[in-house]
Amino acid sequence: MVSNMVSPPIVRMDSAEKIRSALYTGIVGDTLGVPAEEPFTHEASLCAVKNLLGYGRYDQPLGTWSDDTSMVLCTMESLIRGYDLNDMGKTFCRWLFEAYWTPFGQVVDCGVTTFLALEELRSGVAATHSGQRSEDDNGNGCLMRILPSTLFFRNQELDAYLATIHDITAITHAHPRSKAACGIYATLMKHLITSHKPKKDAFFAAMHEAADYYQRHEEFRPELRHFERILSGAIASMPREEISVSGYIVDTLESSLWCFLNNDSARNVVWATASMGLETDTTSMAAGGLAGAYYGMSGVPSEWTDSLARREEIDQLIEKFVQAALRQ
Ligand SMILES: [Mg+2]
Repeated sequence: MVSNMVSPPIVRMDSAEKIRSALYTGIVGDTLGVPAEEPFTHEASLCAVKNLLGYGRYDQPLGTWSDDTSMVLCTMESLIRGYDLNDMGKTFCRWLFEAYWTPFGQVVDCGVTTFLALEELRSGVAATHSGQRSEDDNGNGCLMRILPSTLFFRNQELDAYLATIHDITAITHAHPRSKAACGIYATLMKHLITSHKPKKDAFFAAMHEAADYYQRHEEFRPELRHFERILSGAIASMPREEISVSGYIVDTLESSLWCFLNNDSARNVVWATASMGLETDTTSMAAGGLAGAYYGMSGVPSEWTDSLARREEIDQLIEKFVQAALRQ
């Protein structure tokens, strides 16, 4: 088959625009993913996404974002005040136990690992010790909220940057696999924000750097085999059938990277992730963040952003965050 599709030109954006686009596209991705989450069938997911119906798994109206966006907004608010793990943990607790930063004053979802960690924080445990660390604690609940941190600390030198990302991950998810998954995602985001490389060049350069880092650190060496398809770059050219979609953090990282690498606009990336069914909110949040940083907002339909619950408050928080991030 002869394709007449041409890759779109790289959009030249400044850091502020990249950070803003990454956040909006990630949040829109989460919102589109809510009606498509399991137990909807794949066909029903597509229908719900296409019609922007809302009323999916949690019977919520149009523009409803999930726990992913709640935790992203809490992270942003905390980082605007200054980097403090305990403050961030307490802000997460306000979300879970007081319905703070929820679309309609109600907490509709929370993963088990996140719940257990936030219970510990509430009982007085420090944020450096609240994270759950068994192998079963490798769900995607930390990847769903890591986006603002990857943007905020983008200018740190790589070793310091990854140490920061790991510490923030470990507020809830302290197993080295979860920390490495967020670190790999963050390394790619750092390249997308701080360079103007073509997408796949940025991906391969980031994976090379991440592989080198995790090889150098003993804590992470036993985890490398779980990330082989990602760190080798093989994931970029795999057929869709080989990509698993689930709540396991490695699957979520793989599927979001695959959608980012194999679609040619922010709209198509978010569309592809939201259409995959299962864990659509987190896959779309993670892939949407990457897509927004790379492509900008130009291809994202305005009705997607216009429909967001608490849109004006989100706009204000994003602008404050962008200004705080630019000072970093
Ligand atoms: Mg969610």
